[in-house]
Amino acid sequence: MCSSIKSVILLLDKNTSSSPIKASHFKLSSFNMKLYFSHEGVNRSAHLRKNLDFLKLAKQDSQSRFIAFAQEQPLFLFPPELNPELLLLSPEHIPVENTSHFLGLHNGISYFATDLSEPIPLTKPLSLRSATQYCSEEQAGLLAYAQSLLHWSRQFLFCPTCAQKLTLSPAGDFKTCNSCSKEYYPRINPVVIMVIEAQTEQGEFALLGRQSRHPPGMYSCLAGFIEAGESIEAAVARETFEETGVLIDEQSIEIWFNQPWPWPSQLMIGCYAKAQHFQEPVVDLDELEQAHWFTKEEIQKSCLGMSSILNIPPHFTIAHQLLKNWSSPSPNTYLKGHT
Ligand SMILES: [Zn+2]
Repeated sequence: MCSSIKSVILLLDKNTSSSPIKASHFKLSSFNMKLYFSHEGVNRSAHLRKNLDFLKLAKQDSQSRFIAFAQEQPLFLFPPELNPELLLLSPEHIPVENTSHFLGLHNGISYFATDLSEPIPLTKPLSLRSATQYCSEEQAGLLAYAQSLLHWSRQFLFCPTCAQKLTLSPAGDFKTCNSCSKEYYPRINPVVIMVIEAQTEQGEFALLGRQSRHPPGMYSCLAGFIEAGESIEAAVARETFEETGVLIDEQSIEIWFNQPWPWPSQLMIGCYAKAQHFQEPVVDLDELEQAHWFTKEEIQKSCLGMSSILNIPPHFTIAHQLLKNWSSPSPNTYLKGHT
């Protein structure tokens, strides 16, 4: 190695202020829970995606069901004076020219997602947030899966390498460039979302922030996208410091549970960490409007909808479940995660 390169490496090494963050504690099995949008409702049956005979038959089988979207939202039947129901179409109702995406099997029935562009009579498109009130958890998971896949297919049209139009695979699970033969699969974007705890003589506090788009009184967990080449642990430390100036104890980071988040295709990775100090947050106004420490008691009350000063996000979000587990007095949830 030439001496100038060696000296640059030595210089870099000297200037590195912190050692790499050590492996975190994985407690996934301790929580014994699945979050909203995590119930897929089908077996993805990936081995069938390349079976052209199966796909051809399944797309024509009168037992098969198609989840129909229009205007980027799932369609619901709106029978007069009854609750809306998720629309599940059989193959004869799908236009021949429509592309469809194989989602998987449930009880021997094949499920597909397809985009009809416009609603059909007696149906309306519903946002997934609104749809959660009419869906089982299995249906919500299936809709999240379908929505992310359809969004990717609608947006990802041209080859990033040679700019030619891409062709969807028969199962609708990837695209191929006819010009350079490259294959492209749907991408997900990983996001860290975390409970940051401070222990004081007055009790335990969690650091929450709010964005200007949040309804009045709503605060949520800090969160942010994981950057290229970054670990989950490093992202937790960086995002917390960037948004609030709070330094965390890197050895305290735990990865608790995760949730697919279909707007459009995130994977929310729920984490926990301890702050080094109980310090006043210094908010980055490009990221947050405000950040405050809230007591465990106040968060418990908010989980029950009984707080007059704090609203946390709704039950189907990972932020709600993180805060519920963190503030829960039950040994089956939070405490069980801390052996
Ligand atoms: Zn290409």
